[in-house]
Amino acid sequence: MTFSLDFLGASGGVTGSRTLVRFDGYSSLVDCGLFQGPKEVRQKNWEPMLDPSVKIDSVVLTHAHLDHSGYLPRLFGQGWRGPVYCSEGTADLLPVMLRDAAYLESEFAGYANRVGYSNHKPALPLFTQNDVDLVVKNLKPMKRDEWIQLAPDVSIRFGNAGHIIGASHIQFTFAHPNGTRILTFSGDLGHDRSPTMKAPDPVAETDALVVESTYGDRLHPRTNIVEEFAAIAKRTFERGGVLVIPAFAVGRAQEILYIIRLAEDQGLIPRVPVILDSPMSQIATKVFFEHPEDHREGSPFSKEDGRDYYLPSNFIATVSSDDSMLACMRGGPLIIISAAGMLNGGRILHHLKARLPKPENTVLFCGYQAEGTKGRTLQERVGGIDVLRIHHQEIPIEAEIATMVSLSAHGDWQDISAWVKRMKRPPSHVIINHGNPEAMTAMAQHIRDILPNAEVTPMLAPGRLKLF
Ligand SMILES: [Zn+2]
Repeated sequence: MTFSLDFLGASGGVTGSRTLVRFDGYSSLVDCGLFQGPKEVRQKNWEPMLDPSVKIDSVVLTHAHLDHSGYLPRLFGQGWRGPVYCSEGTADLLPVMLRDAAYLESEFAGYANRVGYSNHKPALPLFTQNDVDLVVKNLKPMKRDEWIQLAPDVSIRFGNAGHIIGASHIQFTFAHPNGTRILTFSGDLGHDRSPTMKAPDPVAETDALVVESTYGDRLHPRTNIVEEFAAIAKRTFERGGVLVIPAFAVGRAQEILYIIRLAEDQGLIPRVPVILDSPMSQIATKVFFEHPEDHREGSPFSKEDGRDYYLPSNFIATVSSDDSMLACMRGGPLIIISAAGMLNGGRILHHLKARLPKPENTVLFCGYQAEGTKGRTLQERVGGIDVLRIHHQEIPIEAEIATMVSLSAHGDWQDISAWVKRMKRPPSHVIINHGNPEAMTAMAQHIRDILPNAEVTPMLAPGRLKLF
């Protein structure tokens, strides 16, 4: 009887989530994420994920974020075929995310060929829309909280992880000769302070747990999110400036729109024009309303008529790239929300080019910025920079740079610990992944504090673990 976990990514980092679970001849890949960040990290997407002789029977996805799903088209493009199990919400969001990523890939390859800076000649996209079609055809949407048999001795179940629409923690059961064994993957975990998303559901029992640690060494402030947002917006408007918010098109953009609406209704900010400049966001909004089961009760996304009262009063959604360019030229006070959230492409870059050089403007970060991304570079002024390189131009940074971590879709270490503590039969082995080394090490200690008898392993580098 063999039972092992191969951590192929998100080990000592937050991107490239891929873990191969092997149990007695059956193997399932939990998440199939892209490596994101600096060039040397992204380069790993071009390397083979596994020895070609390694068999993968199925892929199981925790959620649709690209660092958990974005390598799937590449896997299919290389000829792999098999079922991709995910929640119903993920099955609806994933095509939106992957098509957008394939579009950016083709744009990027085209640009590299025109400018001639790629090492590949000609520069090729990592995957294409055809590869995405193959993924979509093989998606197996599953209801939450129901066991699904993958093989005679292996079943899985998806539970709400409260992170984005469809985000799930996943439990495996294995019929072990010494009794059934349960292995749980937390996926990315949310918290109980989102104005829109439900808090993560608890897990009753598990033998082993693989848990994320994005904020394993941080505590988010327990402030009033609407008031915190309003203070930043208000001082920007008083300067006559534009508030630019880079946002993941999925989830974050919709949540921010609702927070702006709440701030307006509470009289905390004036009703200024609010531009959502991300074609993908608008499709994602549709998916948002189709999954009331993931939303907090009372949030507009949980109701049929919610569309009428979640948007700011002066809301504009751009469609064409001409609209987007016009938005770059409008004067403040004004709010612009655009993707990509970590500034690794998309329309947000044009907005930053236009707004960063003026001190009256503000760039507000409200999602996790992975190390090495342009987002993190700007957010923390890495290296003391006073210019940001965008499209091969040096753009002076004069605007205010602000961050609202309380808006994060990830829980902090206390949230993760609280979720673990709710287990009636806690794990005897906890494996920490999906975090920077400091965050992993800190999270490992927090878990040891609450589960002193458990074996705790931070996966600081890719590698294999044998279980049970
Ligand atoms: Zn995520």
